[in-house]
Amino acid sequence: MSRVFNFSAGPATLPEPVLRQAAEEMLDWHGTGMSVMEMSHRGKAFVSIAEQAEADLRELLAVPDNYRVLFLQGGATAQFAAVPLNLVGDAPVVDYVNTGSWSKKAIAEAGKYTRVNVVAEGGKGDPMGIPAQATWQCDPQAAYLHYCANETITGVEFADIPDSGDVPLVSDMSSTFLSRPLDVSRFGVIYAGAQKNFGPAGLTVVIVRDDLLDRASSLTPSIWDYKRQAEADSMLNTPATYSLYIAGLVFQWLKGEGGLEVMAERNHQKASKLYAAIDGSAFYRNPVEPSARSWMNVPFVLADDSLDGQFLSEAESAGLSTLKGHRSVGGMRASIYNAMPEAGVDALIEFMADFEKRHG
Ligand code: PMP
Repeated sequence: MSRVFNFSAGPATLPEPVLRQAAEEMLDWHGTGMSVMEMSHRGKAFVSIAEQAEADLRELLAVPDNYRVLFLQGGATAQFAAVPLNLVGDAPVVDYVNTGSWSKKAIAEAGKYTRVNVVAEGGKGDPMGIPAQATWQCDPQAAYLHYCANETITGVEFADIPDSGDVPLVSDMSSTFLSRPLDVSRFGVIYAGAQKNFGPAGLTVVIVRDDLLDRASSLTPSIWDYKRQAEADSMLNTPATYSLYIAGLVFQWLKGEGGLEVMAERNHQKASKLYAAIDGSAFYRNPVEPSARSWMNVPFVLADDSLDGQFLSEAESAGLSTLKGHRSVGGMRASIYNAMPEAGVDALIEFMADFEKRHG
């Protein structure tokens, strides 16, 4: 067996000890004589797995007691609709920051249900950045303020949590969730698909402040109604059981590694090294302002894009997989989530220097 360094943006690399444990437990989970995949979601064994996963996630993020943690399906894309359906209530408008493709998708979906006020346009130009919050045109009547904490495609990330005053703050954290500590008490709702930083596809975590549970539109599909799911412990219907089990193993792995402070240190170190290598060369370039650079997704272009294909195929041969940038922007992208070891980033930097020597 030989595993590669997998730089995929999602589904993405998972911690090897988690995969090994899942393999060991595949046929017989803890003496039950069955795989987690084969268990009733209402049985004692699976309920204990789900409860442990929630307890571990709460501990990792120090989630305050007045927040509910939901394990849902439908990906972050379902939340683009669920957020306005659950939160608009009687408000005439919602506020959204646009920092790139995922913000735009969230804005388009919200526009089906309510009036959307785009408070600022970022993630454009060269270098790309995030407009200063002092320039945002927020509407005091907005039901909430939504932003995408990390634009996975362009690698534009908020370094700090915006201040939304009394308006509930909502964030799509799909590609940065659990990459560093987070003050959950600053938010109304946080949501994230698992398949980037904490598990397989099929699972979406939603963390919602409990005073926001009573304003859903009657048209909200029951499975995306936060209150109904909170009341049913996220088991209004069959949850994504196996994905939740793997996410639970990832939460335990994170705790064992020392928690989110340690992850933040490692992620900062990995990203800084890679950006330094890119900035230190005239052959490679990252198009994001340093203050808005992502720790998780590092896009870069070659000065001569006719070499892109060769770069990707030589990288693949060197065991550096899935470095192609998103089809909408081209170039390269290295996604370096929690489970990417520093050795993977070192190998990439070394390969980049060698490629430049041969082609620069
Ligand atoms: N938001 C962000 C920031 C993403 O990166 C993605 C997935 N690439 C999505 C939303 C959509 O997620 P899903 O495929 O889980 O619906």
